[in-house]
Amino acid sequence: MASGEHKKYVSLMNKVLDGEATKEEQCLLDAHLAGCSSCRDHFNELRQYANLLNQLVHPQVPINFTKNVLDKLPADHRHAVRNWAARHPLYTGMAICALPMSLMMIAARRQASDREKSGNGQFILLKMPGDRS
Ligand SMILES: [Zn+2]
Repeated sequence: MASGEHKKYVSLMNKVLDGEATKEEQCLLDAHLAGCSSCRDHFNELRQYANLLNQLVHPQVPINFTKNVLDKLPADHRHAVRNWAARHPLYTGMAICALPMSLMMIAARRQASDREKSGNGQFILLKMPGDRS
């Protein structure tokens, strides 16, 4: 099959993932995926990253930032972001990990400063050597 043919299906994949595809388009894609393993792999990748983005966005609903930004992007740009994510899994993984990690670091730093204020941290440090005997 010509590569132009596959490109048509890639844009269909994005439509399906966005919930913008018609039933006919969904069937067209399903039929193609059934016989084309490279498109099937690509679709699985796209779906995986779409899920990752959703997981990142939904547990932190008050912020709902990524989704709002993505929703405001024209469909073409949204698809470009997703295609880029599928082509650069390492960078995307890093970007997705960076946000929760920085939140964790902020939380950890806040906990540490709370402990300093209450003096509990010092208490634990002083107590531990004695427990060894
Ligand atoms: Zn194909």
